[in-house]
Amino acid sequence: MKKDFFIYNTATRSKELFTPLHDTVGMYCCGPTVYNYAHIGNLRTYLFEDVLKRTLVALGYRVKHVINITDVGHLVSDADTGEDKMEKGAKREGRSVWDIAAYYTQKFMENISDLNIEKPDLFPRATGHIPQMIAMVQELELKGFTYRTNDGIYYDTTKFPAYAGFARLEPESIRAGERVDMGGKRSPTDFALWKFSPLGAKRQMEWESPWGTGFPGWHIECSAMALAYLPQPIEIHCGGTDHVRVHHTNEIAQAEGATGKPFVRYWLHGEFLVVDKGKMAKSGENFVTLDSLKSRKIPPLAYRMFCFSAHYRSPLAFSWEGLEGAAAGLANLRRSLAAAGGAQTVPERVEPGSVETALEAFYAAVCDDLNMPKAMAALWDIVRDEKMSPDLRRAAAARADEILGLELLKPAEEAPCETFSGEKGTTVKLTAGRPLADAEKQVILEKVRQRQRARAAKDWSEADRFRRELLTLGATVKDRPDGTAEVVIQ
Ligand code: AMP
Ligand code: ZN
Repeated sequence: MKKDFFIYNTATRSKELFTPLHDTVGMYCCGPTVYNYAHIGNLRTYLFEDVLKRTLVALGYRVKHVINITDVGHLVSDADTGEDKMEKGAKREGRSVWDIAAYYTQKFMENISDLNIEKPDLFPRATGHIPQMIAMVQELELKGFTYRTNDGIYYDTTKFPAYAGFARLEPESIRAGERVDMGGKRSPTDFALWKFSPLGAKRQMEWESPWGTGFPGWHIECSAMALAYLPQPIEIHCGGTDHVRVHHTNEIAQAEGATGKPFVRYWLHGEFLVVDKGKMAKSGENFVTLDSLKSRKIPPLAYRMFCFSAHYRSPLAFSWEGLEGAAAGLANLRRSLAAAGGAQTVPERVEPGSVETALEAFYAAVCDDLNMPKAMAALWDIVRDEKMSPDLRRAAAARADEILGLELLKPAEEAPCETFSGEKGTTVKLTAGRPLADAEKQVILEKVRQRQRARAAKDWSEADRFRRELLTLGATVKDRPDGTAEVVIQ
């Protein structure tokens, strides 16, 4: 299927028509620093990248997708100071750095699989590419971009005139950096390419280099691994919005300094998942993982659905209520598709071309810089359209799901039913179509019992008042002749 695909390019600050240079679209995404669990904010970024890749594939492109694993060199401060995050993680857990890296890499793989994020073609580890990084630093040295301080080899950003262009850095913001500890750096924007192991101390991860024993800087990892696997210029490079100012600015300076050629054509950046207006961060306390969702019985794909409620370039506010709403929404979508009937499997016998026609608005939204809130609205319109045959609705949903990855034709899970005691030996059967917090459940049960008391006292207006109060909580009640109250919560 060929369609014009528009994406917002951070490099030009505008929406551009995607026109690849190579037969296979190269796509490089900055991957996790594996010193801790990924939080669901990190996962929001990988989700938007997955939708981008699935869209390219749906549009008929071949894609070579690379996500790196940062298992060395990412320091606590982006200004090349502080501890290596990996060493910090190892100390915290009393394990070796290599164990920490293997454990959290495995956890990351489980997370992306739970979220239906398609596995990339390659997952290169930074520690597996030290020779490529050293070669790139040597090239930069040869071309006069580097200098030596007593703690490492640094990139001289004054030698790369385009340095401030990508992030539109203002001179004031650069000068503000001069007030922070510069170490031996000549300019606040200069950054480490190779750091020496501290004198007299042996790091768990260190390598020999032409400049002395040490380890690579974080930024050189991505430039070297991206160019090791993808032809230059790389079509697409993605990451979270925090990477524009430092990490990606530095990646460009390194790759273009070393090769003298443009590094990347389209830069895409995902906005943050925020909690109480602040970024969800691995170092912060507001840290929610996919496992914490599962322990609250919220399925991972509900989080995928939740992320579609905002455009990837807008911040998305995290809340448990929002997530529960997304879980209910996904269950509803599956139930509506199941209720539409039609063939159980993906119907193949719909009129040729009718699926594409049905999905016109859906594809128009996706191809407009991945406007997923609009795409989901278009999908709901199809699901509710009684003029379309059930087979066509299901076939269209199945096709849309190649991009959405929500397992839309999976049978809607039977909502769990719990039994409680009611008034005077009766029973209350509670069926919840969404995860229910204990406190909410207790409030509903109490109102059901009060209604039962009012009915027993033949106080019909009071009973009706409780019925209405329950309705505002999304709970409907049916009374069986034996006195059982059947409560269904939407
Ligand atoms: P890290 O593992 O910290 O290197 O980050 C992995 C990816 O997650 C990077 O692309 C970050 O830009 C991105 N990221 C970090 N915090 C958030 C957040 N709160 N919301 C969305 N993406 C984030
Ligand atoms: Zn990177």
